[in-house]
Amino acid sequence: MIPIAKPLIEDDEIDAVTRTLKSGSLAQGDGVKRFEDAFAGFIGTKYAIAINSGTAALHVALLSHRISEGDEVITTPFSFISTANSILFVGAKPVFADIREEDFNIDPNCILEKITKKTKAIIPVHLYGHPADMKTIMEIAEDHNLTVVEDACQAHGAKIKGRMVGSYGSGCFSFYPTKNMTTGEGGMITTDDDLVADRARMIRSHGAKIRYQHEMLGYNVRMTDISAVMGIEQLKKLDGFTKRRQDNAGYLSDKLKLKGILTPKVRDGCEHVFHQYTIRVTGDCVITRDNLVSALTEGGVGTGIHYSVPIHKQPFYQDLGYNEEYAVSELMADQVISLPIHPSVEESDLDHISKVIKKAVL
Ligand SMILES: *Cc1c(COP(=O)(O)O)cnc(C)c1O
Repeated sequence: MIPIAKPLIEDDEIDAVTRTLKSGSLAQGDGVKRFEDAFAGFIGTKYAIAINSGTAALHVALLSHRISEGDEVITTPFSFISTANSILFVGAKPVFADIREEDFNIDPNCILEKITKKTKAIIPVHLYGHPADMKTIMEIAEDHNLTVVEDACQAHGAKIKGRMVGSYGSGCFSFYPTKNMTTGEGGMITTDDDLVADRARMIRSHGAKIRYQHEMLGYNVRMTDISAVMGIEQLKKLDGFTKRRQDNAGYLSDKLKLKGILTPKVRDGCEHVFHQYTIRVTGDCVITRDNLVSALTEGGVGTGIHYSVPIHKQPFYQDLGYNEEYAVSELMADQVISLPIHPSVEESDLDHISKVIKKAVL
């Protein structure tokens, strides 16, 4: 089976973790500091604040921007659940805006339709590693005085005209093992805002700057040095990982010029980091999406459906009373399949994947 995702851990990571374990300094310390400095340098922000997951990064970022009860936050319904859940965590209301077919990302025109007096923030998601339309989103945010928190959990190193995502608003990253780089579990907030950085550092550690002096309500969502030293090694390799993903994606797209199959597009000026390589199976295809998934599984190819149920359709959100329709998100949920293109996937694997797909649809 060619797995849909695989973390690439080598001796560099193992040696760094071993050194940290032997040092006896396991929790947040010098390793976290060094990882934060390296990550801020990579994204091009003044600050990076390490957190123990991408979900917690979103939660802490919203708290640090003082989003709270009574506020509305506009986001996409076509994402992983934690994007919208982070808004609920702080007592605010997720307001969904539909996406664009071309890149699966939030549609700025739909954002405009959803702005009310209560709107305080926008959370665009750079889905699959393709940047959202940050130029237009930042203009909207400026016009309406809104905070922007970017969910960059799938987009480490993605750029628009050379500028990294996660540097437009405050950025949130995940280092879960399936992501473009990993620390086991882990997350990061990137920001240029002194106050946000200061609050995020306090909130991740019981609301205290100085030990046992608690200025605000905080949590324990710190990263360990064990994770951080892994992150330092992974970050050094990220550009190489990304190149592999992009080359694999290009190779597969050349092979999959088939009726009823749409391969991912990259918008002008954007660098896509292919966290996922996601095709669409449209009505013009001779078999259904689900039958193509079965054929791939039988052919030994791991797949993923990101995401089969948009967030507003999740039982929990239905219970909360979300009954509006988001036509593009719902259509995409029925059409998408993600295929393996991670750095461990070889050209022979890609040939095999395309052979299995051609056999099923031709
Ligand atoms: C992975 C992911 C998250 C959450 O990150 P965790 O580290 O798993 O908590 C949030 N948003 C998106 C879009 C993700 O892909």
